[in-house]
Amino acid sequence: MVVADNTQQTTRLYELLSKVVDPEIPVLTLQDLGVLRAITVEDDEIKVTITPTYAGCPALETMRADIETTLAQAGFPSVTVKQSLSPAWTTDWMSEAGRKKLFEYGIAPPAAAACGRETGPAACPQCGSTDTQLVSEFGSTACKALHQCQDCREPFDYFKCI
Ligand SMILES: [Zn+2]
Repeated sequence: MVVADNTQQTTRLYELLSKVVDPEIPVLTLQDLGVLRAITVEDDEIKVTITPTYAGCPALETMRADIETTLAQAGFPSVTVKQSLSPAWTTDWMSEAGRKKLFEYGIAPPAAAACGRETGPAACPQCGSTDTQLVSEFGSTACKALHQCQDCREPFDYFKCI
């Protein structure tokens, strides 16, 4: 049962967890990605629910450890990190701020209009050109594809739509 007087505590937990970053793309927080799903406090037990970007994501254990460490350092040692796979994570959950940060970091964010069409034109993070080409379905991680800009010739990662 969720106790009534924990609203302030939940807000504090959100503040703390909003600073936890993705192990693979450290410019993005788990909140930016939409990976952070829920924080609940029942009695003295804190439960954090996360949905990894894909099942079997190797970064999951790092995320779990980062969440536990962040809360433990702030005086919340009793934390359970739960994984929720249903509904599955989708790039639609990524915040606008997150998409902007990705682009500035040099990774083309998943364009909402391109979703459902994996090879849809991604804007080059270097020059903004949409004259880009898919080089490989697999970039530096399974979540990304490698593209190259036909204007400035720079290769860049494209965060694939899921
Ligand atoms: Zn370019």
